[in-house]
Amino acid sequence: MERRNFSIFKFCVLASSSSGNCAFIATDTTRILLDAGLSRKETFARLAQIGEDPTKLDAIFITHEHSDHVAGLPVLAKTLKIPIYLTNKTAPMLAWGEFQPTLETFQAGTTVVVGDIEVDSFTIPHDAVDAVGYCFRAQGIKAAVATDLGYIPENIKFHLRDSDILLLESNHDLEMLKVGPYPWQVKQRVMGRNGHLSNDATARFIREDMSSRVSTLLLGHLSDHNNYPALVELSVSQALEERCLTPKMAVTCGKTTSEVFIY
Ligand SMILES: [Zn+2]
Ligand SMILES: [Zn+2]
Repeated sequence: MERRNFSIFKFCVLASSSSGNCAFIATDTTRILLDAGLSRKETFARLAQIGEDPTKLDAIFITHEHSDHVAGLPVLAKTLKIPIYLTNKTAPMLAWGEFQPTLETFQAGTTVVVGDIEVDSFTIPHDAVDAVGYCFRAQGIKAAVATDLGYIPENIKFHLRDSDILLLESNHDLEMLKVGPYPWQVKQRVMGRNGHLSNDATARFIREDMSSRVSTLLLGHLSDHNNYPALVELSVSQALEERCLTPKMAVTCGKTTSEVFIY
């Protein structure tokens, strides 16, 4: 029998937490790193764990300038010498040291193409200069990433529509945050409109707005101090149950990579 030539779309969260963020998106011919919150050594080690060669990466996309998303970027950029995609307002916020990489800047809200992957950017409400979320589209598959956002406005609901893979923030448990170790001002920042999504807000989105097309639902950017994976799992499972939806679900973390989701 003749063998069909299957196309592949891969998505893996290398790390997602309030202390380091990085994800890997690839087709047969194009490989993208999203954010660079891990050191070069750690990024390379985690790529090796999933059988990927870091020197074959084509581009790095950046969501915003907070250190949990860019701490490893200058060293990674110098080592890999591949273009860095980021918004025109985020670009001046980054310090490069002696090596100036090729920057491909764009306006938040526009779409850029790398190889056979189309990447839509969309503005997210967060206390960074010009934070964006992304949708990666290829082979008829769409993976959306929305972390670091205080709430989910209508334009983001629109962008997350019809995703096959969704990585969504479920940052904190409100009660834990309120009684937790953060100073009051930091608590206010996290809870605010430009802060981070609570477990409740994420569950509400799943209950009221999430597309039934989502077949892989990943929860991410959990606070190291104000959340537990078991709390996220519980609130998300309840919300999914109410909708009678049964996507593959996983809570991602900073310590280990997720499974590689292959479509
Ligand atoms: Zn941030
Ligand atoms: Zn962050």
